[in-house]
Amino acid sequence: MALSRAVGRLIGVRRHVVDPGGGGTPRVPRPTRAMVVGGGIAGMSAAVVLAERGVAVTVLEAAPALGGRLGAWPEELPDGTRRNEHGFHAFFRQYYNWRSILRRVDPALGFLKPVPGYPVLSADWPAEEFGRLPSAPPANLLALLLRSPSLRLADLRVMDRDAALPLLAYDPVSTWAEFDERTADELLASLRLPDRARAMLFEVFSHSFFNHEAEMSAAEMIAQFHFYLLGNPEGLAFDAPDEDYAMAIWAPLTRHLRRHGGQVHTGVTVTRLDRAADGWRVNTADGASHDAGHVVLAVDPPALARLVAASPDLVEAAPRLVARMPAFGRPGPPYAVARYWLDGDVRPDRAVFSGVSRQPTLDSVTLYHRLAVEPRRWAERTGGAVVELHAYACEPDVPAAELAERMRVELTALWPEAAGLQVRALRARVEARAPAFPPGSHPDRPGVRTEVKGLYLAGDGIRTEFPSALMERSAATGILAANHILRAEGAAAEPLLSVRPRGLLAR
Ligand SMILES: Cc1cc2nc3c(=O)[nH]c(=O)nc-3n(C[C@H](O)[C@H](O)[C@H](O)COP(=O)(O)OP(=O)(O)OC[C@H]3O[C@@H](n4cnc5c(N)ncnc54)[C@H](O)[C@@H]3O)c2cc1C
Repeated sequence: MALSRAVGRLIGVRRHVVDPGGGGTPRVPRPTRAMVVGGGIAGMSAAVVLAERGVAVTVLEAAPALGGRLGAWPEELPDGTRRNEHGFHAFFRQYYNWRSILRRVDPALGFLKPVPGYPVLSADWPAEEFGRLPSAPPANLLALLLRSPSLRLADLRVMDRDAALPLLAYDPVSTWAEFDERTADELLASLRLPDRARAMLFEVFSHSFFNHEAEMSAAEMIAQFHFYLLGNPEGLAFDAPDEDYAMAIWAPLTRHLRRHGGQVHTGVTVTRLDRAADGWRVNTADGASHDAGHVVLAVDPPALARLVAASPDLVEAAPRLVARMPAFGRPGPPYAVARYWLDGDVRPDRAVFSGVSRQPTLDSVTLYHRLAVEPRRWAERTGGAVVELHAYACEPDVPAAELAERMRVELTALWPEAAGLQVRALRARVEARAPAFPPGSHPDRPGVRTEVKGLYLAGDGIRTEFPSALMERSAATGILAANHILRAEGAAAEPLLSVRPRGLLAR
């Protein structure tokens, strides 16, 4: 690991500073007020940075609890109240900006525990292990190619190596110019990989971005390969909290924010944005309104499109933003999460987290009773297991219970012992709130800054000029939004970090 990192550093694969921060007073020099709409990762990241610099910041969150797609809430089960969550999340080690926010409440990040291994399961082929690769490129790529049972030397000869070069040459301008109009599916087909290598090495990866390959921009896929594998010095291994997200993240972050004078209101839906004398008026469903010089809209894409459409003042003030919303607000396909409380356990050698390839619905399996404190206690007491099944891009218009059952049946094809386990409780959800990355969407993807003063966007669908994705993109855009406000007011900005900004072979 250390050697691969040292070699990686020599060729520039290390953490890069994309914004050194600083440049002003430690706190805003004059009274400054900001409203943040949405209390997920993006909104809370923005609010934390703003509050620390003395901005009077208020977060308005529509749901009863903070966290958005990383939320957690109490749930009544037949044998008592348990926490349920929005689903297992992998906290990758190159999530520098999200981790910097989390360090505010746990400087050593002790609540994040390494998740051992990262197998990909298939009904047709032996499992592929991703978790134990060297951390940095090029060693991780070479090890993957040499070790992978899904790819033989003979396959590499047949493969179109020229078609594979763009994966190593991510460039924030030319990759989008050359590949945004093509689909990820076309790119993968052009590699001429054997079916097994495509299924085991590439498809699992692309599903994790909540988009179908046939509907996802090839440039986005190249960017994500770069962010997670080819430009990342930290490896594909990841960590996860051993407590639920409410306990581990949202309660302590709320306390931190309040200690710095920030406010958080949950159960408050923002309905409209109006121009006000000195900035913006944020109107809420309960009839209240809040004026502020700065507003950060940190909501999911469909919610952003709804909010913009319901705000007539934006038509005049921000016509470009308004024009982009109908396309931007169309989410990716639905995703499903089913948490099963079972009356027995699966085999002891099953991994805590496994990706799944080529099942019609099931994309991942998490053994929560081997990961988190409360499910572990429940399993010890009852002899059962807490198993969470995810589908990242599923068929539309199928009810959650049906998707949960399909995933359970598909699991038994991979782990036959699961067939004998009885269901004690099930909580299943299906939603469509993840950003879509269709071919050709990049030029119109909104960035953090809008064309109008005092209005910023943050979230995992918002464009960054450096590689980022999912939770890390939410945190990074939240911090970027806060930085724009701080700089406008003369206060010091927050540093921002990234993996290597360009690919190893980028011109
Ligand atoms: C099942 C699942 C598994 C995932 N796994 C991973 C993973 O392993 N690794 C990873 O990096 N990412 C993962 N993700 C993605 C990750 O959850 C998201 O990228 C991230 O949480 C998005 O955060 P956000 O703040 O941008 O948006 P959100 O979390 O969607 O937050 C937006 C918030 O705005 C609120 N809101 C909307 N409209 C309004 C309104 N009008 N007024 C007030 N509030 C409003 C919403 O209630 C919500 O709380 C996963 C997502 C899911 C669903």
